[in-house]
Amino acid sequence: MAQSVLVIDDSPLMHRLLAGHLLEEGCEVRGALGPEQGYERACAEPPDLILLDLVMHGGDGYDVLRRLKGNPRTADIPVIMVSGTSDVKGKVRAFDLGAIDYVVKPFDRTELRARVRSALRLKRYHDLLAERSSIDALTGLWNRGYLDQRLAEEIAGARRYRRRFALVLVDIDHFKQVNDTYGHPTGDRLLGSVSEILQHSVRAGDAACRFGGEEFALLLVESGREEAASVSLRVRERVAALEVMAGGIPLKRTVSLGATTSDDFSAASLTAEAMIEAADQALYAAKNGGRNRVCLAPPRTVSSSMRASARAAG
Ligand code: GH3
Ligand code: MG
Ligand code: MG
Repeated sequence: MAQSVLVIDDSPLMHRLLAGHLLEEGCEVRGALGPEQGYERACAEPPDLILLDLVMHGGDGYDVLRRLKGNPRTADIPVIMVSGTSDVKGKVRAFDLGAIDYVVKPFDRTELRARVRSALRLKRYHDLLAERSSIDALTGLWNRGYLDQRLAEEIAGARRYRRRFALVLVDIDHFKQVNDTYGHPTGDRLLGSVSEILQHSVRAGDAACRFGGEEFALLLVESGREEAASVSLRVRERVAALEVMAGGIPLKRTVSLGATTSDDFSAASLTAEAMIEAADQALYAAKNGGRNRVCLAPPRTVSSSMRASARAAG
């Protein structure tokens, strides 16, 4: 996929000039004609690189740079400052605020393109490292840190745009016995096989995560109770049918699942903690009900919205 570059500059002429160079580099080019619009565009759809004009009508580039670097959503985007002056103090200030490079107008087109390539290369390494640090080493699934981050994003999306999603907790039944009877390496292989089933049971855009130990979490986008139930039942069946060889003997295990969805909550009560707790309680019910089963958390919207309207009425 092409890397995207956002040009923030108040001169339409500069946009045309830079866009020409960037398109030749195979970049996807976006533009903003002022500092405010530029910052907003960067936040709305974070690009891979920003070319930021230093002197603009309506505010200077330093201010935009400071805000970009102060926002976790945009802090890791490399920024190349584009300036009409080569004043050392100004350059130092830009670098100290977090700019990755500083280009003086009029610039040499080959040099500009080389600087853009270099910044984009760095961004690719950065993204690769960020992705690796979000992956669980044993299972290859997303780790808990990634889940927490995605959950926060999905909750924000559900509140703002009413995007629905589901959270399913999956726990292997009597897993400790596997370690105790066949040894830890066999336990690890079983974790790997169950993880593969989870990975193949979700769609692109969903996330299969290792929640910790022998517990997993599925984040299902655009899903309500029906979708959560059908994915959960599919996982339950596939794991029950799985056989892992342990010392020549096929070893079988089951999983218990607890699911909750954003639809189950009012906007005010929808938090990561509340969702995890609801899914965990449903999982506990599945364990208590005899394991190898799926439980859905009861909806909480009705009672909480009733409370809200009672408050409004009172
Ligand atoms: P339940 O049906 O109630 O879930 O029982 P359980 O035995 O599955 O659950 P319990 O929480 O008692 O045991 C979980 C075990 O998972 C204990 C721990 O040693 C094991 N475990 C956690 N992480 C790993 C791992 O990375 N590899 C292996 N092999 N075992 C692990
Ligand atoms: Mg277990
Ligand atoms: Mg457990």
